[in-house]
Amino acid sequence: MNDPRKRTLRVILFLIAILLLYRVLKEDEERLQMTTVTGQTMGTIGYNIKYLQLNPVNFKGSIDSLLRAFNQSLSTYIPDSEISRLNRSDTLVFESALFYPILHASRQVFDETGGAFDPTIGPLVNIWGFGPDKTIQVPDSSTVQSLLTKVGFDLIDFNQSFATKRNGAILDFGAIAKGYAIDRVANFLERKGVENYMVEIGGEVRAKGQNDKGEIWSIGVEDPTVEDNEQKLLAIVKLDEKSIATSGNYRNYYQRDGRTYAHILDPRTGYNSLHRLLSASVFTEECMMADAYATAFMVMGLELTKTFLDKNSDVEAILIYADEDNELRSFVSEGIAEDVIMNKAL
Ligand code: ADP
Ligand code: MG
Repeated sequence: MNDPRKRTLRVILFLIAILLLYRVLKEDEERLQMTTVTGQTMGTIGYNIKYLQLNPVNFKGSIDSLLRAFNQSLSTYIPDSEISRLNRSDTLVFESALFYPILHASRQVFDETGGAFDPTIGPLVNIWGFGPDKTIQVPDSSTVQSLLTKVGFDLIDFNQSFATKRNGAILDFGAIAKGYAIDRVANFLERKGVENYMVEIGGEVRAKGQNDKGEIWSIGVEDPTVEDNEQKLLAIVKLDEKSIATSGNYRNYYQRDGRTYAHILDPRTGYNSLHRLLSASVFTEECMMADAYATAFMVMGLELTKTFLDKNSDVEAILIYADEDNELRSFVSEGIAEDVIMNKAL
């Protein structure tokens, strides 16, 4: 019993057991591998999806077919999509489970923002030259006024099974679809048991858990004042179980006779809403909501947006604006501040 050789043996066996356990645990950790899936959707919008799994499965085929089904329901560029048929016929009995949630979210953001976000804005977007027909023609005020009768989310009625519309209103979810598609991909990954992922479509992102280096996913926020071809990062943001969507008037605009015309319009006036607010990066759990709020904030401008953020604790934002002296400034709402590293002191 007190044989020193037996004791030594026991100690050695114990050490071997610990070593084996350590190796098993370590292998387990190492086996969490990252898969990257890239591609295009909604025409030419790029996507970039990364996720971690013990036994990597490439979901590209499933993700592409999910996105195809998404467009087959919600793309106005597909003539027989659900949305195109609703736009032509004024009524639609939903075939996919996609339509109701996006109408519901749109109604919520439309109500909360006093109509600053409005997916019936399409006819005005077109007349200002930001629709499929890119011919630039500054419209006269009577054209704008007459188109306003077709604009207003109140012209849409819906329940869980069908939608109807009046006055020739047209729906276009361009300002919210990217975020919604991201949510659908994220939900798909979660259904597959994935707990660590980053889903990016056209610049909007939703992330959960950690990357392959064991860090929380970090996302760059672009500088709204630099040219397209030299995107610089203005800030780095840590994103866990959150989404970020950015809207700005810095990419999609044109100038005529010394005036700037940008792609985000005020649905209540029919005109551009150019403010000192240059970009809004919005954080919410669902990317669809962040996407919608980001567009709305560009219409609302700096002060109304700050008030909104004060009142809504589940919405955070980084706002980039020009002050009275035209100096670039930033506002970071309290709830996100500790996850944001500003690259430039603003
Ligand atoms: P992007 O698509 O460039 O990332 P947004 O998500 O802000 O930016 O969407 C902008 C698009 O939404 C515009 O190009 C236009 O088609 C449409 N839009 C413009 N103004 C509004 C608005 N007030 N509400 C809803 N959609 C809008
Ligand atoms: Mg948007």
